[in-house]
Amino acid sequence: MVAQVCVLGATGSIGASTLDVIARHPDKYRAFALSAHRNVDDMFHCCQRFSPPLAVMVDEASAEDLAARLKAAGSDTEVLGGAAALETIASHERVDMVMAAIVGAAGLAPNLAAIRAGKRVLLANKESLVMSGELFMTEACKSAAMLLPIDSEHNAIYQCLPEAYQCGEGLSRAVRRILLTASGGPFRGRSLAELHDVTPAEACNHPNWSMGQKISVDSATLMNKGLELIEACWLFRVAPEQIEVHIHPESIVHSMVEYCDGSVLAQLGTPDMRTPIAYGMAWPERIDAGVGSLDLFTQGSLHFERPDETNFPCLDLARQAFREGGTAGAILNAANEEAVAAFLKGNIRFTAIPDIIARALEAVEIQRADSLDTVVYADQAARTSATQTIQQLQTHA
Ligand code: NAD
Ligand code: MG
Repeated sequence: MVAQVCVLGATGSIGASTLDVIARHPDKYRAFALSAHRNVDDMFHCCQRFSPPLAVMVDEASAEDLAARLKAAGSDTEVLGGAAALETIASHERVDMVMAAIVGAAGLAPNLAAIRAGKRVLLANKESLVMSGELFMTEACKSAAMLLPIDSEHNAIYQCLPEAYQCGEGLSRAVRRILLTASGGPFRGRSLAELHDVTPAEACNHPNWSMGQKISVDSATLMNKGLELIEACWLFRVAPEQIEVHIHPESIVHSMVEYCDGSVLAQLGTPDMRTPIAYGMAWPERIDAGVGSLDLFTQGSLHFERPDETNFPCLDLARQAFREGGTAGAILNAANEEAVAAFLKGNIRFTAIPDIIARALEAVEIQRADSLDTVVYADQAARTSATQTIQQLQTHA
């Protein structure tokens, strides 16, 4: 049987890798629905190549543009516009699996729709879990949905857990701790003074991974590891104290699980997101992902060090937000999204990012995160706080 795949965020970095894996296995997978924000050119090419029955452009004008271009090209793809259409395709009765690869908070509603509809959900969009982990995991455990982590570290951890393990279940007592690896990003080892003048282009120039701009900046601030720490706490139901971040500049060991007998299981591979994507798509089987063999002879050595939490305070901001609980995760995530966007536009310094997030966490009241409304309210309040801080920083610059 050919599995029908919905790719949310099809024009992004994860979206492209997912389509690459689909293209390698036309006997197993078909792109049934694709979505993008407003990149009509890329989406047009994806639709021409994969002929999905459905395509969504969140931006309505882009949807009209795409529909006209596809019609002129004789395509049968039906184009839908608007954010609500993401939920339509994510929960479509003909869809078997959903690749959740929209960047940021915009992924939350369609991801929840996919979970509620009982799909196999391949979770790349970590922000939705950071925002509303409790709600998200409660819904996942209630529904028949199968949640598979795509973030390389969480995918590695999942692969190192017993085969029967399902995300959301508590870990066996036999697991002592999780060793979450991090590349350290492009600014590893820099002093605060050296971080002061770094540019968006430098921040996006990741040494090992080719990724979207937002996650690249998160990787440079170590917020990506903070978001991933929260993601791991929710997916594997562990406390932050059970997770130890290890900076591993080569990005070959994607994470590890330590058991009570002292055994440490690791998953290794060349840094290529097609590996965890193919794993999630084929689970419990394995398929060719188009990724070559790991050459440890050429690699020679692997290194591990502690993270520098003084010059990179975002990791601890995330840890604290998880401990606070409630809407703190939503506040952290939203303030980070605003700060990163401002940095990418050249409006603030790299070193202002953690300050903007810390201020939002102080300014916005933390509530219980028991409904989507409270989460969305916290997200909006944090964006308002962050925007104010950004404006103040600009006037004083
Ligand atoms: P990207 O910026 O390359 O792509 C983002 C996709 O989301 C695009 O298709 C874009 O059209 C869509 N999008 C953007 N804003 C939107 C909105 N408001 N509404 C609907 N769609 C919108 O990002 P990426 O690097 O592919 O990352 C996607 C997600 O996967 C992120 O949550 C990221 O943290 C996670 N992730 C990425 C990698 C990686 O290697 N790139 C690794 C692990 C996790
Ligand atoms: Mg990761």
